[in-house]
Amino acid sequence: MTSSDQRPGLLDRLAAGPVICAEGYVFELERRGYLQAGPFVPEVVLDHPEQVSALHRDFVHAGSDVVEALTYYAHREKLRAVGKDGLLEDLNRQALALAREVAQDTDTLIAGNICNTNVYDPADVTTQQQTRAMFEEQVGWAAEAGADFVIGETFRYAGEALLALDIIRRAELPAVITLAVGRRAETREGWTIPDACARLAAAGAVVVGLNCIRGPATMLPLLEGIIHAVDVPVAALPVPYRTHPEQPTFQSLREAEAIPLPDGKPFPTALDPFTCNRYEVADFTRSAHDAGVRYLGLCCGAGPHHVRSMAEALGRRPPASRYSEDMSKHAFFGTDPVLSSHNRAYSQHL
Ligand SMILES: [Zn+2]
Repeated sequence: MTSSDQRPGLLDRLAAGPVICAEGYVFELERRGYLQAGPFVPEVVLDHPEQVSALHRDFVHAGSDVVEALTYYAHREKLRAVGKDGLLEDLNRQALALAREVAQDTDTLIAGNICNTNVYDPADVTTQQQTRAMFEEQVGWAAEAGADFVIGETFRYAGEALLALDIIRRAELPAVITLAVGRRAETREGWTIPDACARLAAAGAVVVGLNCIRGPATMLPLLEGIIHAVDVPVAALPVPYRTHPEQPTFQSLREAEAIPLPDGKPFPTALDPFTCNRYEVADFTRSAHDAGVRYLGLCCGAGPHHVRSMAEALGRRPPASRYSEDMSKHAFFGTDPVLSSHNRAYSQHL
């Protein structure tokens, strides 16, 4: 099942230009009504596989070069938390099969995925052994499914990220490792972000960087330090929300007015008014690319329109660009001479 074919792999594609990896499956499937906020366990893989496949295809249609198997939070600890640990292997194998089918159909890369375990404790060796075992089983299934590489992501502890990297390297697969940065711009054990990324690159990650938690405005300032610290391609996959220095993460965002929210805060189910528009995503893409980022994507909250905007900002025309806006043909705001001047004159009253 490994890629004995001559398709360009991740490193070939990175050498030729930036790579786009669409993420945000969990949030998008939650919005669509197929996944529960809170646990965020992707049972949808088994319950509604057609929805997962459709979203894979939507993201590729919009410009993603990578189909990431939906195994985020499909690890032993999370499935135990929802009383479904018996489904662990079926869920992982199914998620990988769904991703592989779309990747093969669309000539894109298939990525396995492991993530923060919520078990790892740097002060407790037993939890580190548990974490290692959780990564080993998931990476093993990804390798058997023929993954082109494995993404290890959303790690707040650099130590946990290094463990993930070690397991992926032992499986002889390229590793993309990204850290999740909270309100303080450091890892949970207190390392600087450039230092953590440098250690990951030195330990053999082929791409290092950041994903999730921070929006474009508060992730962008952290990228330059990483780029200077490493000699491997750098990744940036922010959440598409309007974070700012006072509220730098999507968990810390607050409504200015007293709007009824179940938990007093917008995260995770009332973030809609903070969502970046596609032009903000394009702006981030250009800025990050100009800074030297070579592996670009978006995390929780992203939709296909964001991914298309990212692709177009890099000068591409994915299939979805056939439907990118053309306001010259709008009935009221348009400029096309075939339009009724009667309606165009009325545009200021809309
Ligand atoms: Zn995310």
